[in-house]
Amino acid sequence: MATKFICDGMLGKLCKHLRICGIDTLYSNQGIAILLEARKQNRIVITRNTHLRGKDSIFFIQTSNPVTQLKMVITQYNLQNKIQPFSRCVECNYKLKSISKESVKDKVPYFTYKNFNEFAFCPQCQKVYWKGSHYKNMIKDIRHLIANCKFQIADCE
Ligand SMILES: [Zn+2]
Repeated sequence: MATKFICDGMLGKLCKHLRICGIDTLYSNQGIAILLEARKQNRIVITRNTHLRGKDSIFFIQTSNPVTQLKMVITQYNLQNKIQPFSRCVECNYKLKSISKESVKDKVPYFTYKNFNEFAFCPQCQKVYWKGSHYKNMIKDIRHLIANCKFQIADCE
């Protein structure tokens, strides 16, 4: 079964980084209720709350640097080969679906429509994704963060 996470209120940036990597990650700023939510959905809690340290299914993180945090999670749970950028909505964690160029014509800037052929959208929030400069920077970021990752970066060079 895939390793799934839930980040606490202090780890919003880490949550987004994990989603960028395609890792199933929820966000909760509801304090201790995060434990219930995690148990119900069989998720690992990632937290900076020292009161939760050492409990079952808790990954406690001391550092406040989101990049270091991401590295720690990837290493701890052996996610190096699970990383799939461009597969999950950064805003709401839903799996992205690919969508034809024609159907995004009215939803993206003209320049984007003109210059890109591959699009995906989030069925939940309707946000449209494409492999533009934002995507390329994101991949470069990740590659820099996790030097040993084996995902495809060919289309970014
Ligand atoms: Zn979304």
